[in-house]
Amino acid sequence: MIAQITLQDGALFFTIGLFALCLFAYLYLAVRERTLAWRLSSHALFHCKKCGLVISVRPLQAQPRQCPRCGGRPVPYRSVSASNPNR
Ligand SMILES: [Zn+2]
Repeated sequence: MIAQITLQDGALFFTIGLFALCLFAYLYLAVRERTLAWRLSSHALFHCKKCGLVISVRPLQAQPRQCPRCGGRPVPYRSVSASNPNR
């Protein structure tokens, strides 16, 4: 037995499917935004003394031991401006 789908039912399913697609896209983007977003308040910033590269570190990540560009020693970014008020 083959189920007959009328034009009205097809249009209804199509509309529901479009809404469901929009909902899934919105949820996907919301989750992606939450996991990938760069939040200044929750990230720690480090500053390379040698080359000036600014490195952002996620909250649970350990402090970077050396600069990825030049191998210098990164210091917390806040202390750079605090120790050097002329900048
Ligand atoms: Zn460096």
